[in-house]
Amino acid sequence: MSTLLIHHPSFLEHVTPIGHPERPDRIRAIDRILEHERFQALEREQAPVGTIEQAALAHPEAFVQEIKDAVPETGLTRIDADTVISPGSWKAAMRGVGGVCQAVDEVMAGKVKNAFCAIRPPGHHAEKDRAMGFCLFNNVAVAARWAKKQHGVERVAIMDFDVHHGNGTQDIFWSDTSVMYTSTHQMPLYPGTGAVNETGAGNTIVNAPLRAGDGGAEFREAMEVAILPRIEDFRPDLVIISAGFDAHHRDPLGQINLVEADYAWVTAKLMDIADRSANGRVVSVLEGGYDLEGLAKSVAAHVMTLMKA
Ligand code: ZN
Repeated sequence: MSTLLIHHPSFLEHVTPIGHPERPDRIRAIDRILEHERFQALEREQAPVGTIEQAALAHPEAFVQEIKDAVPETGLTRIDADTVISPGSWKAAMRGVGGVCQAVDEVMAGKVKNAFCAIRPPGHHAEKDRAMGFCLFNNVAVAARWAKKQHGVERVAIMDFDVHHGNGTQDIFWSDTSVMYTSTHQMPLYPGTGAVNETGAGNTIVNAPLRAGDGGAEFREAMEVAILPRIEDFRPDLVIISAGFDAHHRDPLGQINLVEADYAWVTAKLMDIADRSANGRVVSVLEGGYDLEGLAKSVAAHVMTLMKA
């Protein structure tokens, strides 16, 4: 069965200052590699505009409105040291929200087996009521809550292999035992959270930190020892991937040395678990990844693996 690619030109309209790593060229690099004929079988759909109600599944509605009101008519508005919004940011963020919900809808309906959402701005640092770390709304948290609300899904497992810890996703699901949040990430590194002893109110948060200099062997061991068995035991009805590719060896923001084959490997492992408890349902959502070549090649390996379902 097929793999859905969610994309939209609006994701180029969220503009950041010159030299900022989270830039529109990231989407251009992904679009370019996915145009190759080996990706011809992808089902391609443009992300629809999401609703404030959808964003408010993961955030207080007042916070969503606050972001909307902060969007400048011209120029850039800084929200924190490294998070900015531009005139096109609201549309990009809402297409991101709409895109992940659409991916959930199609995967839950069985129209496609799995989906990859090539969206920006990323989301996993966005806490309940705080935009930070390049992130405005927590896209994967919206997707998980949408699956529960709209499709009656009981358990969602999120696996976040971005090099940074998804403090926002952890914050949102800290006391929500229907959603398991698992993460590998470099530590110490921004944002500073993600220690092994951060396990959530109901022991459904699983953090497996890596050290600077670690590579594929340490990553795979962390996955096999600490994370995959926990997701398997949780028996998720849907697996969501916070797919950041900044643990790639070329990436300027982290010091983990993953290669494309590691991303293919972890994708296949998560698909295996999804096959056993979730009828194969996987929704993957782009987070970080700041070296354009490393990002594009890693996305290609990830999506090519999803297409083998
Ligand atoms: Zn990251």
